[in-house]
Amino acid sequence: MQNLYDIIICGGGPAGLTAAIYCARGGVKAAVLERMNVGGQAALPEGIENYPGFSRIGGFELTDNMRAQAEGLGAEIVYDEAAAFSFKSRIKTIKTATGRDYAARAVILALGAGAKPLGAVGEAEFAGRGVSTCATCDGAFFRDKTACVAGGGNTAAEDALYLARFTKKVYLIHRRDSLRADAANIKKVLAEPKIEILWNTVAVEIMGGNAVERLRLKNTLTGDISELKTDALFIAVGQTPNTAVLRDTGVKLNESGYICVNAHMRANIKHIYAAGDCADGHLKQIVTACANGAVAATSAIQEL
Ligand SMILES: Cc1cc2nc3c(=O)[nH]c(=O)nc-3n(C[C@H](O)[C@H](O)[C@H](O)COP(=O)(O)OP(=O)(O)OC[C@H]3O[C@@H](n4cnc5c(N)ncnc54)[C@H](O)[C@@H]3O)c2cc1C
Repeated sequence: MQNLYDIIICGGGPAGLTAAIYCARGGVKAAVLERMNVGGQAALPEGIENYPGFSRIGGFELTDNMRAQAEGLGAEIVYDEAAAFSFKSRIKTIKTATGRDYAARAVILALGAGAKPLGAVGEAEFAGRGVSTCATCDGAFFRDKTACVAGGGNTAAEDALYLARFTKKVYLIHRRDSLRADAANIKKVLAEPKIEILWNTVAVEIMGGNAVERLRLKNTLTGDISELKTDALFIAVGQTPNTAVLRDTGVKLNESGYICVNAHMRANIKHIYAAGDCADGHLKQIVTACANGAVAATSAIQEL
C-alpha cells in the first residue's frame, strides 16, 4: 500500500514534533501531517520564559529546533491537512485536503487548539501588542502595569490571580453578574485586593497607538459606554480544540470537544492516541504538550 507508515502524527506543534522525535528514535516509520507551519501556537510568542532549559527563547527558534531534531532523526514532515479519517479497520487511513491518501498502523492526533475570540474591535490589530490569550506566557511583560482579563470562568479567574502577583492592578471584565469559576477560585479572586471585577461589562473596542492603551467598555444591562486605561487585555473566554475534523470518526470527545484520553494518551479507539492542547487535560502549555507527545508515541510504539 502506498504511503503506509507505522505511525502518522496529525499536527506539527510541540506535541506532534515531540511524538515524531520519540517515533524516530523508537525505530518506527513515522510522518507528521501539518496543515500550515510547524511549531503551531508555540511558534508565535516572541519570548518563551517557562520552557525548561532556556531562560528565554523565541517561539519560532524553539519549535524550529524541534522540527530539525525530528527530521534529523528521520521523521518525515508532510505539509498537508488531514481532512478525513477512517479508523474502522486495523489499518487507519487519512485523506488530506489535497486529495492524497495515507495509511498507518497507529495515529497520534496532535491537532492543537485556538483561543476563542472576544469579538472586540481592534482584537486582531493589537494581538501581541498588549492583547494576549495566554497570561502564563505573556503576563510577566506587564510587571507593575495595569492589565485587564476578559472572561468569567476558571481560566479568567486563574489568569487574574496570576497577573495580580506582579501587575499594579487587574480588572476582571465579566459580562454577567457572577463568575462561572470554581468556588475556591472565586473566593481567591474576591480576596485579592489588586483585582477589581467589572460586572455586567464587555470590552467592545481596544484602542491605542503602538500598543494597547485603553478599552471601550459596554455595560450589558444599561448599554452605557465608558473607557478604561490599561496596558494589556488578556482574553480568557475559552479555547476551541481543532477537533471538528474528527466528527463521525468514533473518537470520543468531552463536552467541550477535547479528545478523551487515558494516562497513556490512548483515545477510545485502539491504536488512536491524542496529545497536547487537543486532548482533555489541565495545563495547556508547551511543556505539557511535549510530555503528552512523548507518552503518546511511546504507547503507540509499544502497542503496534
Ligand atoms: C500567543 C501564545 C503564546 C504562548 N506562549 C506560551 C509560553 O510562553 N509558554 C508555554 O508553555 N506555552 C505557551 N503558549 C501555549 C502553547 O503554545 C500551546 O500549549 C502549545 O503550542 C500546544 O501544542 P500542541 O502541539 O498541542 O498544539 P498547537 O501548538 O496548537 O499545534 C497544533 C498544530 O496542528 C496543526 N493542525 C491542526 N489541525 C490540523 C489538521 N487537520 N491537519 C494537519 N495539521 C493540523 C496546526 O496547524 C498546528 O500547527 C502560548 C500560546 C499562544 C497562542
